Amino acid sequence: MIWAPLLRLQEALGPGAELMLVGGAVRDELLGRPHADWDLATKLLPPAVMERAKAAGLRVIPTGLQHGTVTVILEDQPVEVTTFRSDGDYLDGRRPESVRLGVDLVEDLSRRDFTINAMALPVGGGDLVDPFGGRADLAAGIIRAVGDPLKRFGEDGLRTLRACRFASQLGFEIEAATLEAIPQRLEVAGRVAAERVFTELDKLLRGAKPERGLGLLAESGLLDLWLPELRPMFGCGQNRHHCHDVWIHTLEVVRRVPAQSGPRWAGLFHDAGKPITRSTGPDGEIHFYGHEERSLEMAEWILERLKASHALRREVAALIRHHCTSPTAAWGDAACRRFLGRLGEDALSLEDWAAFRLADHQGKGVEVEARLAEHQLMLSRLGALAAARPPLALKDLALDGAALMRLAGRSGGPWLGELQRHLLEAVLDDPAANTVQGLSRLAMERLGQP
Ligand code: ATP
Ligand code: MG
Repeated sequence: MIWAPLLRLQEALGPGAELMLVGGAVRDELLGRPHADWDLATKLLPPAVMERAKAAGLRVIPTGLQHGTVTVILEDQPVEVTTFRSDGDYLDGRRPESVRLGVDLVEDLSRRDFTINAMALPVGGGDLVDPFGGRADLAAGIIRAVGDPLKRFGEDGLRTLRACRFASQLGFEIEAATLEAIPQRLEVAGRVAAERVFTELDKLLRGAKPERGLGLLAESGLLDLWLPELRPMFGCGQNRHHCHDVWIHTLEVVRRVPAQSGPRWAGLFHDAGKPITRSTGPDGEIHFYGHEERSLEMAEWILERLKASHALRREVAALIRHHCTSPTAAWGDAACRRFLGRLGEDALSLEDWAAFRLADHQGKGVEVEARLAEHQLMLSRLGALAAARPPLALKDLALDGAALMRLAGRSGGPWLGELQRHLLEAVLDDPAANTVQGLSRLAMERLGQP
């Protein structure tokens, strides 16, 4: 269903404008998939688009005139309208040296990466324009380069990664010649800027079939280009708690965690530290002591290299840090509260921790039923304890730092932090102790004052 305000734009530009829905917007329309942006193209040159849209009372922003792009605001939403264009030579493997405006629609479609992204639908109604068989590929679930894949991947290295990303998002297969071209164009792919690589990897990970996307990265050699630290996970055998090697387990976890950036990236890295920490005990059992910390370090430096946001890095670190914690029925309430407190320190909710932990259990492939039963049991116990809103952090103490300084008659110093931690330990053991009176008494005892 074409969004009604686009019809207003179509009217404003007039019938000769050939206003078309193009690229990803057509692909997603035909698939009935929701899409964030409306990619639009027109025969008109940017000055004419601006003039006619303005004359119809629409707000316009000249965003990228040299590339033929004008942004029109429709119902407070920015919509990009790009003049039909062809790309000049690609010399750096990233962007064309120049673009030529004023070409026809088919030429515009021919510069696009895959057949499923190279169709156009007239906004004002009319037949689908599909010169490269995109509709058939869409129906068959195939990602196929427009033209010669070796040439297309040689022009712009990002396309190799986009192919794997669409395979994950749409659950499609990459057509044989297109797939075979990727390993031959790794040198060009390696020139893509880190931010763009991150955006594509992020979309791949959040896709419906991330295990397929990751498998394609591994198979084609792209993984070694951007995430070489993950290669040792392949074939890294585990112990009796697992039926998969570390890499396969990782894929199993990634596909099971919620399809959001934090859990998906954390899933990818949560056991990356296993190969380097692998050891064999005297009884022949295999161990991965301290792998969480190594995985966390690896996630940190890889995400920094990919220029991921601090917010994402913090979320990933928190999920990895706590992914091995297995609360058991043997834990007392105080231990449960201490754990809730640690999650709180890392701004990780119990629900998010639990969803990740659950996926990790399921991804092991052995003893799953028993683990799940204990997980559910402990989750409801932790949830009930959390619902009582016990004090879990320094900020929850009934006496704050200023009150403690007044009580002690001393100005701040290391003693204060030490005292606060002591009081917190006491209220974690017994939340009922968190009263002004109770904490005053404990504080005076601790300070050795009557
Ligand atoms: P998304 O769902 O992420 O928006 P998309 O395919 O729409 O996916 P856009 O970046 O919005 O991606 O690009 C819009 C269209 O522009 C694509 O569908 C494709 O036709 C074309 N395109 C984008 N990037 C490239 C590229 N690197 N090489 C060739 N064509 C491209
Ligand atoms: Mg798009």
